[in-house]
Amino acid sequence: MSRIPRIVILGAGYGGIVTAIRLQKELNYNEADVTLVNKHDYHYITTHLHMPAAGTDNPENARVSILKLIDEFKIDFVKSTVVQIRPQEKKVILEEGTLSYDYLVIGLGGEPETFGIPGLKEYAMNIRSINSVRFIREHIEYQFAKFKREPSRTDYLTFVVGGAGFTGIEFVGELADRIPELCKEFDIDPSLVNIYNIEAAPTALPGFDPELVEYAMNVLKNKGVTFKIATAIKECTPEGVVLATGEEIKSATIIWTGGIRGNHMLEEAGFETMRGRIKVDDTLRIPGHENIYVLGDCSIVMSPEGRPYPPTAQISMQQAEVCAHNLVAQIRNSELQKFEYKPKGTVASLGRGEAIGIVGSRKIKGGVAAVMKKVIDLRYLYIIGGIPLVLKKGRF
Ligand code: FAD
Ligand code: NAD
Repeated sequence: MSRIPRIVILGAGYGGIVTAIRLQKELNYNEADVTLVNKHDYHYITTHLHMPAAGTDNPENARVSILKLIDEFKIDFVKSTVVQIRPQEKKVILEEGTLSYDYLVIGLGGEPETFGIPGLKEYAMNIRSINSVRFIREHIEYQFAKFKREPSRTDYLTFVVGGAGFTGIEFVGELADRIPELCKEFDIDPSLVNIYNIEAAPTALPGFDPELVEYAMNVLKNKGVTFKIATAIKECTPEGVVLATGEEIKSATIIWTGGIRGNHMLEEAGFETMRGRIKVDDTLRIPGHENIYVLGDCSIVMSPEGRPYPPTAQISMQQAEVCAHNLVAQIRNSELQKFEYKPKGTVASLGRGEAIGIVGSRKIKGGVAAVMKKVIDLRYLYIIGGIPLVLKKGRF
């Protein structure tokens, strides 16, 4: 290739932003033109979004200006929405224009998986972005205001969270912490408020350590959360949810945390997908497309046991390191690195001062786990923005 190769990175989430930051460190002057495309001019810290959604934190704390994270002399940033990927033409169509690439990195994140549940798209909200969590927070507050005008409408004070995976559990922990504050602000008896966390599987946090799951459920029950386990949501309506048992829960607030799938544009581009995600090869590229890398929630990486690893920020960031290395290696005609995921553990918050987790082979819970969660959050801020970002956005 005689001209300078063009690398286009789609999405400035965990995978995309870490790839960009690594490339700007590793590439030499004029070795490649790198363009990062994102629909907002900020990166959001998805792993914090349950807090601003419940209103226990300000959405500002969960976002960082992209131009503060990248070096504009090394990376071109384009604020636009990707609408189509055309692999045959090596082009990406944006809302405002078209980009050509030699190498493409897809890190567009996931989308809510609706499983075809009727009414879900229309009547449920999702914890996915700064805009979506601002909407949820405002919506929740408005229900309290509306109840004051129509005190017979207990559905205004009934909150349904569909799915007790990590997102659902972390969100109900925050919501339960927020309720007393809202009740005080709106002069409402807290006993009138109901939070339901509904889970289709036989347990909350399916697949996680049973002792820690029990601990989490007890903490959350004590804060006022009602669990309905082994109970699938069958339908969402303007009045609330219908469960597989036939029971109806009247609620003006349904938050869907029932899982994610890959970005719809991957299927539309003609790639082979499983629930919208692409099974990448061991160098993180799409089989048959040696110039396209896929990261994070859009990708599937298999464990040695042959099961897909759960999509997490942790795996996205590890992929980004290898992706950046491999892009540089491809450009320099040197050897590509194989991606091997090194799980460091899982820690989930249960609201103020409480968490559960497994770090290495150690189980942790309560205050110790909450401190560990904070350390993990601060470490991420350090990786993308160094000490200044830790001091600015870290919640000490
Ligand atoms: P994302 O971080 O989702 O970023 C995708 C980016 O692409 C965004 O910037 C988005 O704006 C942009 N984008 C999307 N569509 C377009 C488009 N059409 N055009 C342009 N730009 C676009 N994982 C953990 O490991 N630990 C945790 O503690 C943890 N906590 C979580 C808490 C919550 C509440 C949630 C919802 C998830 C949590 N996760 C956690 C999972 C983790 O956040 C995701 O796996 C991770 O964000 C995926 O990263 P990604 O790089 O694939 O994309
Ligand atoms: P998930 O897929 O992990 O959990 C979704 C849950 O919804 C499942 O338990 C599923 O059984 C349930 N469900 C599906 N259909 C249902 C129905 N009809 N009715 C009731 N329940 C239903 O999704 P998530 O919690 O959004 O997590 C997405 C990814 O992000 C996961 O990989 C997770 O590990 C990761 N994450 C990690 C953390 C953390 O490490 N602290 C926090 C949040 C998310």
